[in-house]
Amino acid sequence: MAGIYIHIPFCASFCTYCGFYSEICNREEAYARYLEALRREMHLRRDFLGGERITTIYLGGGTPSLLPTFLLTAVADSLRTEFDLSAVEEFTVEVNPEDVVRREDLPQALSLCGANRISLGIQSFCDSHLRWMRRRHTASTAVEAFRLLREAGFDNISIDLIFGFAGLDDGQWRDNLSQAVALAPEHISAYQMSIDPESTLAEMAARGEYTEPDDETCARQYSILQGTLAAAGYVQYEISNFCLDGRHSRHNSAYWDRTAYLGLGPGAHSFNGNDSRQWNDPSLDDYCTALEGGFLPRGGGERLTDRDIFNERVMLGLRTARGVPKSLIDSAGKEYGAVHGLLQDTGNAYRIPRDKWFICDSIIEQYLK
Ligand code: SF4
Repeated sequence: MAGIYIHIPFCASFCTYCGFYSEICNREEAYARYLEALRREMHLRRDFLGGERITTIYLGGGTPSLLPTFLLTAVADSLRTEFDLSAVEEFTVEVNPEDVVRREDLPQALSLCGANRISLGIQSFCDSHLRWMRRRHTASTAVEAFRLLREAGFDNISIDLIFGFAGLDDGQWRDNLSQAVALAPEHISAYQMSIDPESTLAEMAARGEYTEPDDETCARQYSILQGTLAAAGYVQYEISNFCLDGRHSRHNSAYWDRTAYLGLGPGAHSFNGNDSRQWNDPSLDDYCTALEGGFLPRGGGERLTDRDIFNERVMLGLRTARGVPKSLIDSAGKEYGAVHGLLQDTGNAYRIPRDKWFICDSIIEQYLK
């Protein structure tokens, strides 16, 4: 099993909290130049995954929904040319609600490209918060986008929400959650806002214009999140992810299981499923220039030691409901779990109890080598 991630490094504007690598761009020639480079990278790296069956594809960004239909189709065609996609079960595309509503053809175009799962960046149902985040959409646009995606036949939609930022009170958070639940998406990802050093929010914080809410507030909102979604039938399978009826994200679950993936585009990371990670530098121009010259883009790589692999498995596993195999923890020869009372013993795995997921980072730290 393996996955492919494609980074589309374009946004129409930058959101306050975001530190992902992306360029503000709405020029079709720039998109076309990038996609030609991407096609070349696919070709040069087509053997990276060896003979592994590709089961998931994820088109993220940035904002893939900014690409005109003919370029979205070109990405899908290039993928089909370079890789065997016959075993793909899940093909996710991240979309911006405003693009779905503005571009009538988008849902159908995504479907024709082979996408069968949509990740819709709603973030909030409160217009003043959306404006503060500098999102392009409003709450009603988000609801309309969701409706249009359903109408186009998408039966696997994930929405993103954000909590734990100054200005969001518990009542507003509950209201956001009830609006989310009313849409009945198959999947909800909910993240606590943090200050990414590359974001506008970091500059605001440095100027004293933003202060994060205290831990108590964030913990309370996380608990409201868990309680509300559990009551609505969502299963929490990872600290930030909830789903209905087994509709977890296959692609992200593969990251947490340390399955191999190929990341394409500037800033994208790849993993061989064992002990090697590689990445491309986050520069669109350098990326295109290198590939136009017939070379792979500049980037880096690291070889993981046994200790790195152990720590990764613990870190990733303990963020999920499945936990980590007892044999792994026991092999480390430490007195874990039962002794400290921090981990639950589920028979053949250890996991962090759900009511402690909010403080999982501090628990995980104690289990690293
Ligand atoms: S959150 Fe998404 S749309 Fe906003 S700047 Fe980041 S990548 Fe672009």
